[in-house]
Amino acid sequence: DPVLHTHDVTVDYSGKRALNETSLSFESGTVTALIGPSGCGKSTFLRSINLMNREIPGCVIGGKVVYHDINVNTRGIDTLWLRKRVGMVFQQPNPFRKSIYENIAFALKSHGMTKRADLDERVEKSLRSAALWDEVKDKLRDSAYALSGGQQQRLCIARTLALEPDVVLMDEPCSALDPIATFAIEETITDMASRGICVIIVTHNMQQASRVSNRTAFFLMGTMVECGDTPQIFGAP
Ligand code: ADP
Ligand code: ADP
Repeated sequence: DPVLHTHDVTVDYSGKRALNETSLSFESGTVTALIGPSGCGKSTFLRSINLMNREIPGCVIGGKVVYHDINVNTRGIDTLWLRKRVGMVFQQPNPFRKSIYENIAFALKSHGMTKRADLDERVEKSLRSAALWDEVKDKLRDSAYALSGGQQQRLCIARTLALEPDVVLMDEPCSALDPIATFAIEETITDMASRGICVIIVTHNMQQASRVSNRTAFFLMGTMVECGDTPQIFGAP
């Protein structure tokens, strides 16, 4: 069974349709790239999965977003619960104004983890998963703002992974980064999928889509026009 699927999802901003009926399903352990020209609805679709755009006044999401057989596009859904299970990483790294350690521990504490040993263990585990542990293990009390852009983005990934999501949404996570930092993030993405996480990534970078994804969905003017295995979409032999 797919971990997540959308059924005829539409998005309107103040009555203006930004996304036409979109039905896609997503499996554990795979990376799906959402590609297409600027303004075609990629980010709108991504944000409808965790209902983020529903918080914009005048935005209406239609259709079903089904996470483990639960349609979450309903009135009573607990969005805090949903966003713990379906994590999100943004284009601009956005660590909290806190230490490296607290960036991760803060989120865990707010979800009820209080024992110091448990926190220490989860902080290390998630920093390792984001390939950041070796670089920061001796300076966990330093401000997150002292890190480079690429390290900050890996910290944001670690913060998301600490909550043990089974879906991670990424909205152009490398657009603000240089090629070396981008490479490190791409390795982390592949690694997340190999550990069973379902990754859905918006990118305007076709090479990136072909490097990291199993499957690619192509959007044009608010419509998902094609979806298939990435090598097929890119016409590789
Ligand atoms: P992409 O991610 O492919 O660049 P978006 O999903 O950001 O495209 O945008 C799709 C369409 O929705 C565009 O026409 C854009 O102007 C519109 N749109 C996006 N966000 C908002 C918003 N917060 N309010 C109104 N319109 C929006
Ligand atoms: P709480 O911290 O009480 O669990 P939040 O919604 O503030 O509730 O945060 C939950 C987690 O979701 C955060 O720890 C963080 O990882 C992520 N998160 C929330 N808002 C943002 C945001 N604006 N940018 C990046 N990540 C966020």
